[in-house]
Amino acid sequence: MKLLRLIAAGVLLLAGCAGAPPREPPVRRAPPGAGPGVAAPPGAVGAPPIETTGPRFIRVLLSEGTPEVILDGEAIRAWSPDGRLVAEAAGRVTLSAVGERIRWNGSRLLGDTIDAAGSPDLRIGKRKRTGRVRVLARNGKLLAVSVVPFEAYVAAVLSREAAPRFHPEALAAQAVAVRTYAAGAAAKPRNAAYDVVGGVEDQVFDGLDGVAAVFREASDRTRGLVVLYRGELARTVYHSTCGGRTEDAASAWGRDVPYLRAQYCSDCSGSPVYRWEYRMSGAEGRRVAKALGVPPGKDLRIEVAGRTPTGRASRVRLSSGGVSRELSSAKFRRVAGYANVRSLKMGIVPVAGGWRFTGEGWGHGVGMCQYGADGMARRGAGFREILARYYPGTEIRGVSP
Ligand SMILES: [Zn+2]
Repeated sequence: MKLLRLIAAGVLLLAGCAGAPPREPPVRRAPPGAGPGVAAPPGAVGAPPIETTGPRFIRVLLSEGTPEVILDGEAIRAWSPDGRLVAEAAGRVTLSAVGERIRWNGSRLLGDTIDAAGSPDLRIGKRKRTGRVRVLARNGKLLAVSVVPFEAYVAAVLSREAAPRFHPEALAAQAVAVRTYAAGAAAKPRNAAYDVVGGVEDQVFDGLDGVAAVFREASDRTRGLVVLYRGELARTVYHSTCGGRTEDAASAWGRDVPYLRAQYCSDCSGSPVYRWEYRMSGAEGRRVAKALGVPPGKDLRIEVAGRTPTGRASRVRLSSGGVSRELSSAKFRRVAGYANVRSLKMGIVPVAGGWRFTGEGWGHGVGMCQYGADGMARRGAGFREILARYYPGTEIRGVSP
């Protein structure tokens, strides 16, 4: 109940914020299949349907608007939302949509929503989907949602958003940030049918396979802990490397958040992208200019036109042949590629055959610096100290689901 109340409070907080921040992949990811996977999958065949809403589970969008969904498993069962077993099959099941109804293996017509589970597990594509998969028919198309135990989701996201070689205290801090962000997202679902998407728009989730023990340990030892600001779930955004100073939420997204203000950080100096350089070729510069509405000629210029108080580029100007366009640096970065222009803490210098970008850090720079958290942990800091530094003025509380 307490979590429900906190989540309800989180809705109020999030409702007052700008839209979800743009994010990009972290510098490093756990290699797939690195670990033994999550033990004790729920949803064994024959078990009664699980409650798929509420704080114990999170609904992650798998696919939307597809003509069919293929389920693989040795034994597959499907329940209606009211808990009746409506279909079962051995082996592969092809689901398709007929208007607002689901067709099971080309023959039987079911209702508009089913919860499917498999034994020993259910697979969609190459991925094992532990727990239940909810499939909904909408206007002749299908929507598939993975219903995942909340804490297993936290460990799985952690395995994609953090590096396994991070210090255990840094991973613990990251687990609390992941959990808090997810609880906030679940309190304000993206859609009536799902809470979050599995990509960088929320947090990267790629199923429960191959979640290494270090990530499950970090999640387990911080189980139920969330970051609160004035009693409400904080918006615990994070990024790979700040490059020396984190960014204000106000500068990045146009809205001040008291606990997301710039902090000096030298703890990420060990990050492989603490400093970076990118050579943009003339052809690539012309492609970017064209995509941004500036017809590129031989005299194309690309320059920083404004900076935030932390020195990050806020505006970029492209000019050629009398046409000049100034745009948000975030938009420029998106078009130029997040993996090329790794952060907005950058300078641009024209060189023979293109431009030289030199910069610091990777990511939007707001909130927790992941490599900085690792650096702090290696200096002896605990996860509470790490979170207090990057989300100043917040507190950590345990909530029981
Ligand atoms: Zn940093």
